[in-house]
Amino acid sequence: MSKKILIYAEVTRENYIHTVFFELANKAGELAEKLDNAEVDALLISKPGLAENYREAFVNSGIDKIYAIEDERFETYCTEYFSKVAVDAIKEIQPEILLIGATNQGRDLAPRISTALNTGLTADCTGLDINEKGQLAATRPTFGGQLMATILCKNLPQMATVRPKVFKPAEYDNIKPAEIIKITPNEDGVTRCVELLEFHKKLTSEINELDSAEIIVAGGRGMKNSDGFALLKEFADKLGAAVGASRTAVEMGLASHDMQIGQTGKTVTPKLYIACGISGAIQHTIGMNNSDKIIAINTDKNAPIFEIADFGMVGDVFEILPKLIKLENFQK
Ligand SMILES: Cc1cc2nc3c(=O)[nH]c(=O)nc-3n(C[C@H](O)[C@H](O)[C@H](O)COP(=O)(O)OP(=O)(O)OC[C@H]3O[C@@H](n4cnc5c(N)ncnc54)[C@H](O)[C@@H]3O)c2cc1C
Repeated sequence: MSKKILIYAEVTRENYIHTVFFELANKAGELAEKLDNAEVDALLISKPGLAENYREAFVNSGIDKIYAIEDERFETYCTEYFSKVAVDAIKEIQPEILLIGATNQGRDLAPRISTALNTGLTADCTGLDINEKGQLAATRPTFGGQLMATILCKNLPQMATVRPKVFKPAEYDNIKPAEIIKITPNEDGVTRCVELLEFHKKLTSEINELDSAEIIVAGGRGMKNSDGFALLKEFADKLGAAVGASRTAVEMGLASHDMQIGQTGKTVTPKLYIACGISGAIQHTIGMNNSDKIIAINTDKNAPIFEIADFGMVGDVFEILPKLIKLENFQK
């Protein structure tokens, strides 16, 4: 029997499969090759019909089997029901590895599953690999981000959560048909402690555009004050970019928390990331080092940000940014 890597296919409130699933599917494909060509399967808990509706998307993500637990009651996420039926299904499927997105739902679900299955969970991983013994090697920051720890788990399934945007999504082309395996849920013994009474959607204007931006201009302590951040915004507008910030800039009151990038902020993967007055502490770079191209502007030529930058400018942001803003033919 071939080994299995199982990925939890989170369904959003709008009944889409969360993008983090496709990112995990891509990584799982790489892991599967190192794990005796293991199967890569999806676990879907949803209202009826979604497995069939999304079969093509699953196929294009390299999924072998979709284990679908479908019922009208699963239209809305509920901790008790979802964790009970997920645990039952995982006991049947017996995967070597279980991957879950570190979303709000995933962070709620994953610890319950790992506790029920008496296995370990490495949360918020930034890297996944298979070691020479065929074990999942899950890497994540530790000691406040000062060290990267690679964690192994003795029990099965070996579980890990990964934040959205840490990996790139899969881009396969109809490589194999995905089989749908329906599982009948058994909710015996489940007590519902929490009930959703109402749902208030966040207004679009409050949703930060960092998640989808192709270009991000981010400011740190080096932007100094609100005038500095206004300059940063002017530069970003010229490029059609979103504005991000380091934690220090957030703590200085120059930016809101939803603009923070890094270990305790967002993970972003734009085509271009321009770091202005940011030193490049690991807790920051963890959230942006998968950007396609990185440009750094910093007065200190030894700033760590230059180690990961594709292009660096040693100089004062208050001199460089106004010059860039004035450029007539600034290419987007
Ligand atoms: C548990 C934990 C979690 C954390 N999470 C995050 C996180 O999610 N995100 C995050 O960003 N940080 C996080 N941090 C903080 C992180 O360790 C750094 O302290 C922070 O990233 C530094 O921000 P900075 O680069 O803006 O400031 P600094 O490190 O002070 O760097 C400022 C830089 O600006 C340069 N500079 C100064 N003036 C100018 C100028 N005029 N022109 C150009 N350059 C100039 C300086 O040379 C310097 O390199 C976390 C820390 C811990 C312990």
